[in-house]
Amino acid sequence: MKTSIFDSIVFGPIQSRRLGVSLGINLLPADGKLCSFDCIYCECGLNEERRTKSRMPVRSDVKKALEQKLVALKEEGITPDVITFAGNGEPTLHPDFGGIIDDTMEVRNRLCPAARIAVLSNSTTLHKPEVFAVLNKVDDNIMKLDSVSDSRIRQLNAPVSPSFTFDNLLRQLTAFNGNVIIQTMFLKGECRGENVGNTTEEEITGWLEALRQIRPKQVMIYTIDRNTPVEGLLKVSPAEMESIAGRARDLGFRVSVSG
Ligand code: SF4
Repeated sequence: MKTSIFDSIVFGPIQSRRLGVSLGINLLPADGKLCSFDCIYCECGLNEERRTKSRMPVRSDVKKALEQKLVALKEEGITPDVITFAGNGEPTLHPDFGGIIDDTMEVRNRLCPAARIAVLSNSTTLHKPEVFAVLNKVDDNIMKLDSVSDSRIRQLNAPVSPSFTFDNLLRQLTAFNGNVIIQTMFLKGECRGENVGNTTEEEITGWLEALRQIRPKQVMIYTIDRNTPVEGLLKVSPAEMESIAGRARDLGFRVSVSG
Protein backbone atom coordinates (compact mmCIF):
# COMPACT_ATOMS: atom_id res chain seq x y z
CA MET A 1 0.00 0.00 0.00
CA LYS A 2 1.16 3.53 -0.67
CA THR A 3 2.92 5.23 2.22
CA SER A 4 4.29 8.77 2.27
CA ILE A 5 7.19 10.85 3.52
CA PHE A 6 7.56 14.54 4.36
CA ASP A 7 9.65 16.52 1.89
CA SER A 8 10.33 19.61 4.01
CA ILE A 9 11.70 20.51 7.46
CA VAL A 10 8.50 22.19 8.63
CA PHE A 11 5.14 20.78 7.57
CA GLY A 12 1.53 21.60 8.26
CA PRO A 13 -0.06 22.76 10.41
CA ILE A 14 -2.27 19.70 10.36
CA GLN A 15 -5.23 18.80 12.51
CA SER A 16 -3.69 15.93 14.44
CA ARG A 17 -5.84 13.12 15.78
CA ARG A 18 -3.98 13.26 19.06
CA LEU A 19 -2.49 16.72 19.44
CA GLY A 20 -4.78 19.38 17.96
CA VAL A 21 -3.45 21.94 15.46
CA SER A 22 0.09 20.66 15.05
CA LEU A 23 2.99 22.26 13.22
CA GLY A 24 5.36 19.44 12.37
CA ILE A 25 9.14 19.46 12.28
CA ASN A 26 10.98 16.74 10.38
CA LEU A 27 14.63 16.41 11.45
CA LEU A 28 15.26 13.48 9.12
CA PRO A 29 16.32 13.56 5.45
CA ALA A 30 13.55 14.69 3.11
CA ASP A 31 14.08 11.96 0.50
CA GLY A 32 13.44 8.87 2.62
CA LYS A 33 13.13 7.47 6.11
CA LEU A 34 15.66 7.07 8.90
CA CYS A 35 14.56 5.18 11.96
CA SER A 36 15.90 2.89 14.67
CA PHE A 37 12.66 0.91 14.45
CA ASP A 38 11.09 -0.55 11.32
CA CYS A 39 7.45 -0.81 12.38
CA ILE A 40 5.25 -2.93 10.17
CA TYR A 41 2.56 -0.22 10.38
CA CYS A 42 4.85 2.75 9.62
CA GLU A 43 3.14 5.40 7.51
CA CYS A 44 6.55 6.30 6.04
CA GLY A 45 7.08 2.77 4.69
CA LEU A 46 9.70 0.13 5.54
CA ASN A 47 13.32 1.17 6.06
CA GLU A 48 14.57 -0.95 3.16
CA GLU A 49 12.16 0.73 0.71
CA ARG A 50 12.97 4.25 1.88
CA ARG A 51 16.76 4.47 1.97
CA THR A 52 17.94 8.09 2.07
CA LYS A 53 20.61 9.73 -0.04
CA SER A 54 20.49 13.21 1.47
CA ARG A 55 21.56 14.43 4.92
CA MET A 56 19.59 15.57 7.92
CA PRO A 57 18.89 19.32 7.98
CA VAL A 58 21.42 21.42 9.89
CA ARG A 59 20.42 23.15 13.12
CA SER A 60 20.47 26.69 11.70
CA ASP A 61 18.18 25.69 8.81
CA VAL A 62 15.68 24.12 11.19
CA LYS A 63 15.54 27.31 13.23
CA LYS A 64 15.18 29.50 10.15
CA ALA A 65 12.41 27.32 8.67
CA LEU A 66 10.47 27.35 11.94
CA GLU A 67 10.80 31.12 12.36
CA GLN A 68 9.64 31.78 8.80
CA LYS A 69 6.65 29.47 9.15
CA LEU A 70 5.53 30.90 12.49
CA VAL A 71 5.78 34.46 11.16
CA ALA A 72 3.72 33.48 8.09
CA LEU A 73 1.12 31.73 10.23
CA LYS A 74 0.88 34.75 12.52
CA GLU A 75 0.07 36.93 9.52
CA GLU A 76 -2.72 34.50 8.63
CA GLY A 77 -4.01 34.57 12.21
CA ILE A 78 -3.18 30.88 12.80
CA THR A 79 -1.72 29.75 16.11
CA PRO A 80 -0.63 26.13 16.40
CA ASP A 81 -1.51 24.28 19.59
CA VAL A 82 1.72 22.35 19.41
CA ILE A 83 5.05 22.23 17.59
CA THR A 84 5.64 18.53 17.03
CA PHE A 85 8.89 16.76 16.24
CA ALA A 86 7.87 13.83 14.06
CA GLY A 87 8.36 13.21 10.34
CA ASN A 88 10.41 10.66 8.42
CA GLY A 89 11.71 8.58 11.31
CA GLU A 90 13.10 9.03 14.81
CA PRO A 91 13.80 12.70 15.63
CA THR A 92 16.18 12.00 18.52
CA LEU A 93 18.66 10.46 16.06
CA HIS A 94 19.59 13.98 14.93
CA PRO A 95 23.07 14.75 16.34
CA ASP A 96 21.99 18.32 17.25
CA PHE A 97 18.67 17.29 18.77
CA GLY A 98 19.37 19.08 22.06
CA GLY A 99 20.45 22.33 20.40
CA ILE A 100 17.45 22.23 18.07
CA ILE A 101 15.10 21.84 21.03
CA ASP A 102 16.79 24.82 22.72
CA ASP A 103 16.33 26.89 19.54
CA THR A 104 12.71 25.78 19.26
CA MET A 105 11.97 26.82 22.84
CA GLU A 106 13.48 30.25 22.17
CA VAL A 107 11.55 30.71 18.92
CA ARG A 108 8.32 29.41 20.46
CA ASN A 109 8.65 31.78 23.45
CA ARG A 110 9.16 34.71 21.09
CA LEU A 111 6.62 34.02 18.34
CA CYS A 112 4.06 31.57 19.62
CA PRO A 113 4.27 31.34 23.42
CA ALA A 114 1.04 29.39 23.90
CA ALA A 115 2.18 26.45 21.78
CA ARG A 116 3.48 23.33 23.44
CA ILE A 117 6.56 21.52 22.18
CA ALA A 118 6.06 17.78 21.64
CA VAL A 119 8.41 15.02 20.55
CA LEU A 120 7.04 11.77 19.14
CA SER A 121 9.79 9.27 19.89
CA ASN A 122 10.11 5.51 19.57
CA SER A 123 12.00 5.34 22.91
CA THR A 124 15.11 3.71 21.43
CA THR A 125 17.55 6.45 22.45
CA LEU A 126 16.65 6.77 26.13
CA HIS A 127 19.91 5.07 27.10
CA LYS A 128 21.72 8.25 26.00
CA PRO A 129 21.76 10.58 29.03
CA GLU A 130 21.79 13.73 26.88
CA VAL A 131 18.71 12.60 24.90
CA PHE A 132 16.90 11.58 28.08
CA ALA A 133 17.59 15.02 29.61
CA VAL A 134 16.28 16.85 26.53
CA LEU A 135 13.12 14.74 26.38
CA ASN A 136 12.59 15.36 30.07
CA LYS A 137 12.42 19.13 29.50
CA VAL A 138 10.05 19.39 26.52
CA ASP A 139 6.36 19.94 27.27
CA ASP A 140 5.21 16.61 25.85
CA ASN A 141 7.65 13.73 25.47
CA ILE A 142 5.49 11.10 23.83
CA MET A 143 7.19 7.71 24.03
CA LYS A 144 6.29 4.54 22.18
CA LEU A 145 5.39 1.38 24.10
CA ASP A 146 3.59 -1.07 21.81
CA SER A 147 4.12 -4.29 23.73
CA VAL A 148 5.61 -5.72 26.91
CA SER A 149 6.86 -8.82 25.09
CA ASP A 150 10.25 -8.84 23.38
CA SER A 151 9.02 -11.20 20.68
CA ARG A 152 5.98 -8.99 19.93
CA ILE A 153 8.20 -5.89 19.89
CA ARG A 154 10.40 -7.66 17.31
CA GLN A 155 7.31 -8.42 15.20
CA LEU A 156 5.70 -4.99 15.45
CA ASN A 157 8.58 -2.57 15.79
CA ALA A 158 11.57 -4.54 14.45
CA PRO A 159 14.22 -2.60 16.43
CA VAL A 160 17.41 -2.11 14.43
CA SER A 161 19.50 -2.75 17.56
CA PRO A 162 19.48 -6.36 18.78
CA SER A 163 20.07 -5.10 22.33
CA PHE A 164 16.71 -3.28 22.56
CA THR A 165 14.65 -5.08 25.23
CA PHE A 166 11.43 -4.42 27.06
CA ASP A 167 13.14 -4.66 30.47
CA ASN A 168 15.55 -1.86 29.57
CA LEU A 169 12.73 0.17 28.05
CA LEU A 170 10.59 -0.15 31.18
CA ARG A 171 13.49 0.95 33.38
CA GLN A 172 14.15 3.97 31.15
CA LEU A 173 10.50 5.03 30.95
CA THR A 174 10.12 4.66 34.72
CA ALA A 175 13.15 6.94 35.18
CA PHE A 176 11.05 9.90 33.94
CA ASN A 177 9.28 9.74 37.32
CA GLY A 178 5.90 10.27 35.66
CA ASN A 179 7.01 13.13 33.41
CA VAL A 180 6.21 11.19 30.25
CA ILE A 181 3.33 10.44 27.88
CA ILE A 182 3.00 6.88 26.64
CA GLN A 183 1.80 6.22 23.07
CA THR A 184 0.65 2.75 22.12
CA MET A 185 -0.49 1.50 18.72
CA PHE A 186 -3.02 -1.31 19.05
CA LEU A 187 -3.67 -3.46 16.03
CA LYS A 188 -4.79 -6.90 14.94
CA GLY A 189 -4.06 -9.11 11.98
CA GLU A 190 -1.16 -10.97 10.46
CA CYS A 191 2.22 -10.23 8.99
CA ARG A 192 4.25 -12.81 7.06
CA GLY A 193 1.86 -15.52 8.22
CA GLU A 194 2.15 -14.70 11.92
CA ASN A 195 -0.48 -13.22 14.19
CA VAL A 196 0.79 -9.79 15.30
CA GLY A 197 -2.18 -8.52 17.34
CA ASN A 198 -1.27 -6.84 20.63
CA THR A 199 -4.74 -6.79 22.21
CA THR A 200 -4.72 -10.26 23.82
CA GLU A 201 -5.55 -10.41 27.52
CA GLU A 202 -1.93 -11.26 28.29
CA GLU A 203 -0.71 -8.21 26.34
CA ILE A 204 -3.21 -5.82 27.93
CA THR A 205 -2.59 -7.08 31.46
CA GLY A 206 1.14 -6.65 30.97
CA TRP A 207 0.68 -3.21 29.42
CA LEU A 208 -1.46 -2.04 32.36
CA GLU A 209 1.18 -3.31 34.78
CA ALA A 210 3.85 -1.41 32.85
CA LEU A 211 1.74 1.77 33.08
CA ARG A 212 1.44 1.22 36.83
CA GLN A 213 5.21 1.24 37.10
CA ILE A 214 5.85 4.11 34.67
CA ARG A 215 3.07 6.36 36.08
CA PRO A 216 2.78 8.47 32.87
CA LYS A 217 0.99 11.82 33.02
CA GLN A 218 -1.04 10.78 29.98
CA VAL A 219 -1.60 7.76 27.75
CA MET A 220 -2.41 7.98 24.04
CA ILE A 221 -3.77 4.88 22.36
CA TYR A 222 -4.49 4.70 18.68
CA THR A 223 -5.01 2.21 15.92
CA ILE A 224 -4.30 2.02 12.21
CA ASP A 225 -5.72 4.99 10.37
CA ARG A 226 -3.68 5.29 7.18
CA ASN A 227 -1.92 3.01 4.70
CA THR A 228 0.59 0.54 6.10
CA PRO A 229 3.58 -0.90 4.19
CA VAL A 230 2.55 -4.52 4.80
CA GLU A 231 -0.76 -6.18 4.03
CA GLY A 232 -2.88 -7.99 6.59
CA LEU A 233 -2.92 -5.47 9.46
CA LEU A 234 -6.32 -4.60 10.87
CA LYS A 235 -7.80 -1.77 12.89
CA VAL A 236 -9.00 -2.42 16.41
CA SER A 237 -12.70 -1.59 16.74
CA PRO A 238 -13.74 1.62 18.55
CA ALA A 239 -15.52 -0.48 21.20
CA GLU A 240 -12.38 -2.49 21.96
CA MET A 241 -10.21 0.64 22.03
CA GLU A 242 -12.63 2.21 24.51
CA SER A 243 -12.58 -0.96 26.60
CA ILE A 244 -8.75 -0.87 26.79
CA ALA A 245 -8.84 2.86 27.59
CA GLY A 246 -11.43 2.25 30.30
CA ARG A 247 -9.20 -0.27 32.05
CA ALA A 248 -6.34 2.25 32.08
CA ARG A 249 -8.67 5.02 33.28
CA ASP A 250 -9.81 2.75 36.12
CA LEU A 251 -6.18 2.81 37.28
CA GLY A 252 -6.30 6.62 37.34
CA PHE A 253 -4.61 7.42 34.01
CA ARG A 254 -5.69 10.14 31.62
CA VAL A 255 -6.21 8.32 28.32
CA SER A 256 -7.01 9.58 24.83
CA VAL A 257 -8.20 7.28 22.05
CA SER A 258 -7.83 7.95 18.34
CA GLY A 259 -8.07 6.12 15.07
S1 SF4 B 1 9.06 4.44 15.14
FE1 SF4 B 1 7.67 5.69 13.91
S2 SF4 B 1 8.90 6.36 12.15
FE2 SF4 B 1 10.00 4.66 13.11
S3 SF4 B 1 9.35 2.85 12.01
FE3 SF4 B 1 8.00 3.07 13.77
S4 SF4 B 1 6.23 4.23 13.07
FE4 SF4 B 1 7.87 4.48 11.55
